[in-house]
Amino acid sequence: MDFNDSPEEVAFRKKARAFLEQHLTELGPDEAPTGLSEREDGDAIQRAKDWQATKFDNGWGVLTWPKEFGGQGMGRLEASVFAQEEAKFRTPPNVYGIGHGMLGPTLMTHGTKEQQERFIAEMARGQEIWCQLFSEPAAGSDLAGLRSTAVKDGDEWVINGQKIWSTGAHFCDWGMIVTRTDPELPKHDGLTYFIVDMRGPGIECRPIKQINGGSGFNEVFFSDVRVPDSQRVGGVGEGWKVAITTLMNERVSIGAGGGGGRTKDLFRLASECKRNGKPAIEDSGVRARLADIFITGKGLQYTGYRIQSALSRGGTPGPEGSISKAIGAPHSQQVASFAMELQGAMGAVTQEGLTPGDAIWQETYLGSPGLRIAGGTDEVLKNIIAERVLGLPSEHRADKGIPFRDVPTGS
Ligand SMILES: Cc1cc2nc3c(=O)[nH]c(=O)nc-3n(C[C@H](O)[C@H](O)[C@H](O)COP(=O)(O)OP(=O)(O)OC[C@H]3O[C@@H](n4cnc5c(N)ncnc54)[C@H](O)[C@@H]3O)c2cc1C
Repeated sequence: MDFNDSPEEVAFRKKARAFLEQHLTELGPDEAPTGLSEREDGDAIQRAKDWQATKFDNGWGVLTWPKEFGGQGMGRLEASVFAQEEAKFRTPPNVYGIGHGMLGPTLMTHGTKEQQERFIAEMARGQEIWCQLFSEPAAGSDLAGLRSTAVKDGDEWVINGQKIWSTGAHFCDWGMIVTRTDPELPKHDGLTYFIVDMRGPGIECRPIKQINGGSGFNEVFFSDVRVPDSQRVGGVGEGWKVAITTLMNERVSIGAGGGGGRTKDLFRLASECKRNGKPAIEDSGVRARLADIFITGKGLQYTGYRIQSALSRGGTPGPEGSISKAIGAPHSQQVASFAMELQGAMGAVTQEGLTPGDAIWQETYLGSPGLRIAGGTDEVLKNIIAERVLGLPSEHRADKGIPFRDVPTGS
């Protein structure tokens, strides 16, 4: 593929910029896209909703979604051009990654017509925000080992159990949950997927305090939560199939962000920081590290383009999506670590305005280990690549084919 903008892309970029300039303030050369103050408080959530509504109403809502679902039917390349331009402006926090990147596409594939009509357009306009309720205290990488239950009662299901690490659940309107509906079946077969109203009775969100001072995710407790059968996504016992659609879209979304987009900021930081009385960028050791980071960043960017090209030709996200994330997440951590090293003692300061880039590198450094866990840990992604891309023998699975109820738990 050609990596330069085509004449059509040049025109599209210009159009995108004109729209953004009309509604947003452009970032200055030293300004970070979001600072520590951009936490997801009530005010920031409302600003996020307003900005998404403005985008939607002006034809810039969810660019890659089909028009019939309230999207713009554009290719992923156009979406990435728009994202590149939008990143140059000050925006509210993006609280739509899970809904637009993962749950919307899941509903398009597995939802009923009524579910699609009720939820998808509202999700696209951003007035209802969604969370993903998959992980449990004893079921993260081994998601199919989850223990939250849903029991049928007339036209409703009654959900009990606990989820954890649920991003944004405390400000979300709706969630998608995977539950166990039949413990007599092997673990992948007894699962069912539902839409839940996060404001309904019986749901309690407890935010988790993070190392960076924020509380972006939660423990969520379900006590006799009643969900109508009309909110079941996919068949009873088909929850694993539906969840895999969500997870494959998640890996592609996270991987697509791993293009080393911060490399330019890192070069600027290396020019601003001093080493032996001179700009650090003049030091040969610093230059060698920057070159390594630049090369990996470019590799990730072009791998991202290859995935985008395949998807825009009608492909579906497959195990290859795991490759960008397996390389991109450790790379982000490496970039942030080097940025901290360049700042020397200032790296310990997290007060905005006192450090280069409004402490954004400090924030990135503390958040980057999480990228290596969310949406599949490094080890799990390597297993997927080994087994499903390279065709190597699979891991021994002692719980395969036996009823979930009989799987030894050690307790
Ligand atoms: C920033 C962030 C946001 C998240 N958001 C959400 C969300 O919105 N909704 C949601 O449901 N969940 C969310 N999660 C949870 C995430 O999906 C889980 O943390 C992840 O699946 C790992 O599960 P775990 O934490 O239980 O770790 P475990 O699965 O217990 O893993 C512990 C360690 O064991 C290793 N390991 C496990 N199995 C294997 C294996 N077979 N082979 C080799 N090594 C293995 C892992 O690599 C890891 O190092 C989020 C996590 C993070 C960090």
